[in-house]
Amino acid sequence: MKGSIVLFGPPGAGKGTQAEIIVELTGKPQVSTGEMLRSAVSKRTELGLEAKEYMESGRLVPDQVIIGLIEDRLNEPDAINGVLFDGFPRTIPQAEALSEIAEVSAVISIEVPDEDIVDRIVGRRMDPETGEIYHVSFRPPPPDVKGRLVQRKDDNEDTVRMRLAAYHKQTKPLGDWYNNLGILETVDGTGSIQEVGESVAKAVKLH
Ligand code: AMP
Repeated sequence: MKGSIVLFGPPGAGKGTQAEIIVELTGKPQVSTGEMLRSAVSKRTELGLEAKEYMESGRLVPDQVIIGLIEDRLNEPDAINGVLFDGFPRTIPQAEALSEIAEVSAVISIEVPDEDIVDRIVGRRMDPETGEIYHVSFRPPPPDVKGRLVQRKDDNEDTVRMRLAAYHKQTKPLGDWYNNLGILETVDGTGSIQEVGESVAKAVKLH
């Protein structure tokens, strides 16, 4: 596949987890705007200082900031054959800007109902040494890594509700936008990680 792939879906749908299988299948590098922003926040760069309050309150970071970030990232040599976008685009203006600078071959939408999202996110933990994502009940961490796991600052119930509201208002309409272009593939995100992974792999192979 020549172009880029977009992983689409609400917060907590499993985009970060399922990105691994697509990277393995396609060799495309994963470009996660959330990860890029979190790294900027922890390094206290100008970008990080600007993004922090939006992220902590569950709102989207302004489009111009995100588009600038993506333009720079796509100029890196490893992006030449397309990338896997995780968490981008999240608004119609972001998708329009993307269409000017890169070709999108497929959009994989991982569908999970709202009522599952809060439990998924509040129980989410990350291993800072490996980047591996666990869940206290759905994907329990091995005992030897338990002590070093961290929880994202925005993974609390109040912020999740804000993030879900932003998703419905600003991001979800993008699904129709890509469906009209004939490149949207929907995947049921409610099964086990492995089941969802198999559906994701099937969807990727269609393009
Ligand atoms: P994520 O890791 O994808 O859940 O992103 C965490 C937070 O970063 C979001 O709640 C937003 O505040 C911000 N963010 C990440 N990607 C974008 C984007 N494409 N547009 C606007 N804000 C974003």
